[in-house]
Amino acid sequence: MEVARTLASLRRARLSLPAPVGAVLTMGALHDGHRSLLARARGECASVVASVFVNPTQFGPAEDFERYPRDETGDLAALESAHVDLAFLPLVEEIYPHGSATTVDVGPIAQPLEGAARPGHFRGVATVVTVLLNLIGPERTYFGQKDAQQTLVVRRLVDDLGMPVQVVVCPTVREADGLALSSRNRRLSPAERAATTVLFRALEEARALVEAGERDAEAVRQRMRAVVASEPLARPEYVSAADAHTLRELEVVAGEVLLSLAARFGDTRLIDNIPLTVR
Ligand code: AMP
Repeated sequence: MEVARTLASLRRARLSLPAPVGAVLTMGALHDGHRSLLARARGECASVVASVFVNPTQFGPAEDFERYPRDETGDLAALESAHVDLAFLPLVEEIYPHGSATTVDVGPIAQPLEGAARPGHFRGVATVVTVLLNLIGPERTYFGQKDAQQTLVVRRLVDDLGMPVQVVVCPTVREADGLALSSRNRRLSPAERAATTVLFRALEEARALVEAGERDAEAVRQRMRAVVASEPLARPEYVSAADAHTLRELEVVAGEVLLSLAARFGDTRLIDNIPLTVR
């Protein structure tokens, strides 16, 4: 595996990679969710490029950029064992050189849910994804359903900016008790970790309600609220039953639906979702 830390070394190493190239963009502290993306890319592409970059512009001033888990040694070992060809670990100054001023704003899809809870978050995400995809120049790029709104933001910018890359969305990898894997899970205390199972339980109860015939979207959101509220260590932020493509809140549950929620456990903020097709 080659390791590039500068744009110049990335470009040099990229030249000799056979197509199709698959790119997996991460913020590191790699876990089995990341590994599933790397394995899918490895299976489908002649070359795999992975980036590890904790992107400062997608964190708000009061958010956890400084405290975000970092583990470069573990990450390099994980990328090596996933048979990545090229690892890109740039410094912030490489991605945002002096004078860098251009940002990418994808419009309405970035407004609700995570966009409302984290002002500016998706401008940072869309900008860094655009920069990284332009630098790496992959034919395919792999994203996790875990960050459902992010996948819609990335599809939007790739289409709107005419980027010649196929976006592949991979299923959410979970712990045995349902908790979606996340780098932030490392920071949970044992009591908080036990409490986090409420997220998947809320989604599953909502799904069961829909499967039992409930079509009133507010009743579905109410059920998720009630389940999250039953856990004293959870501080709920939002619950949503939305159109899976536009993320507009539904009145009637029908078609392709995204059930999603966000809550805090101590100072760790977690999100989760499940997509549903309702005929
Ligand atoms: P992150 O390092 O959190 O920015 O995530 C990098 C990529 O891995 C994103 O496309 C995420 O959606 C994806 N990812 C993170 N957690 C999971 C998970 N539990 N299952 C599947 N993909 C994930």
